[in-house]
Amino acid sequence: RFIVFEGGDGAGKSTQAALLVQDLRQNGHTVLHTREPGGTPIGEKLRSLVLDHGQGTVDARTEALMYAAARAAHVEQVIRPALAAGTMVVCDRYVDSSLAYQGIGRELGEDAVRSINDFATGGLQPDLTVLLDVTPADGRSRRTVGADGKPLAEDRLESEPDEFHSRIRDAFVHFAAREPSRYLVLDAATGVQSLAAAITEAVAARLNG
Ligand code: C5P
Repeated sequence: RFIVFEGGDGAGKSTQAALLVQDLRQNGHTVLHTREPGGTPIGEKLRSLVLDHGQGTVDARTEALMYAAARAAHVEQVIRPALAAGTMVVCDRYVDSSLAYQGIGRELGEDAVRSINDFATGGLQPDLTVLLDVTPADGRSRRTVGADGKPLAEDRLESEPDEFHSRIRDAFVHFAAREPSRYLVLDAATGVQSLAAAITEAVAARLNG
């Protein structure tokens, strides 16, 4: 089983993914917890290249290909071997992030971005995608202030204006509406514990169904 968390920056994906992984492990499942961009040594290098300020201009096509390259390595070296061994995979971001950020946000078009990602992944699709729907304003306030109240630095994409993040949000919601059986859409403004409970319940229902 392959479960993906998607949503805007500051939605709480990494917190909820970690809580789900903890719950699944407590219930005896073997789970691999991973993230994109990243998940492999080459993927982590691509992550810092594409996200750091000060790399010079990263144009939209280059950006899309870097994410796709990181994803190809991740699928080939990490995700497919884990699934083949019967391990559950919980991943923070996947192809939908590229369709939303590079396809819609950077205006490369969904079809172009989908085709490079089909090549990168060999067509591997998640069994379930949990979309944490966050407003641009909430996302920004969550990612710019740490749990200790201290300011956090934004990466190159996070620091895009609210208008960019608003288009990303609409894109995710549209993808989910188009394919409701693969998505669980939840309001990211819900409390951490009740969100976690809703996710655990939905995942259990799918695992048993
Ligand atoms: O979710 P996380 O903080 O790990 O994402 C890293 C950054 O990569 C975010 O700023 C996100 O907006 C960006 N990203 C992107 N396109 C993707 C995946 C992530 O712009 N396909």
